[in-house]
Amino acid sequence: MRIQALTLFPAMFAPVLNESILGRAVEQGVLDIEIVDIRSFSTDRHRKTDDYPFGGGAGMVLMPQPVFDALERLGTEGKRLVCPSPQGRMLDQQLVCELAREDALLLLCGRYEGIDRRVLDRFRFEEISVGDYILTGGELPAMVLIDAVARMLPGVLGNPRAHDEESICSGLLEYPQYTRPAHFRGADVPEVLLSGDHKRIRLWKFEESLRLTRERRPDLFARFLEEHGELDKDERKILERLLAE
Ligand code: SAM
Repeated sequence: MRIQALTLFPAMFAPVLNESILGRAVEQGVLDIEIVDIRSFSTDRHRKTDDYPFGGGAGMVLMPQPVFDALERLGTEGKRLVCPSPQGRMLDQQLVCELAREDALLLLCGRYEGIDRRVLDRFRFEEISVGDYILTGGELPAMVLIDAVARMLPGVLGNPRAHDEESICSGLLEYPQYTRPAHFRGADVPEVLLSGDHKRIRLWKFEESLRLTRERRPDLFARFLEEHGELDKDERKILERLLAE
């Protein structure tokens, strides 16, 4: 997948994109990321990129000229154009999976009070929010999006089955995780996980996922009850017992 990100702060991306799983995805060529400095497209002699808002109001607005020029130079054909924005559709795993199926994404990171509306309208940007709070710029949301999308690309995660049990993807929150040592400062790992009994372990994980989801995310739990696919006999028994409690 090819991802281009337009930003006034290109240096923010390197520490995130070069590390760990994302860094490996780039190295392996699964992900091709280009960070484009909007300022380099400014025709202003001081490389200015912002100006006062018409009609007054707090702060500055990203000027259309450098962004228009950057988009025209990079081309937008065949790319999904996304602008991180608190006014957009909320990013969730379903949207992440949808974005991961694209060949090319172009992310336009806002700053100040936002971007001149004419840019978003002319190029028909889709606005995506990472939550109901305001950040200083679109760079962190863009990186959140890149990270979430990248791990859905084939070959990026070591174990492709990792998604199946993960919180949200499975329709439930994930069960608690433990690693060595089995006894640590008076706290023990649940006995079942040390038993080697795969069926018991599988059912324990299912029950823990159900309990956690019911307690913390009643919305997800209700959806799971409505939409869950095939449960086997043992899983159904666990669910019925839990509902009867
Ligand atoms: N004045 C804008 C408003 O009230 O909608 C907020 C501008 S914000 C300070 C600057 C930039 O940060 C936005 O253009 C957007 O790119 C990014 N941003 C801030 N909060 C965000 C969020 N929750 N999700 C996605 N992007 C966000």
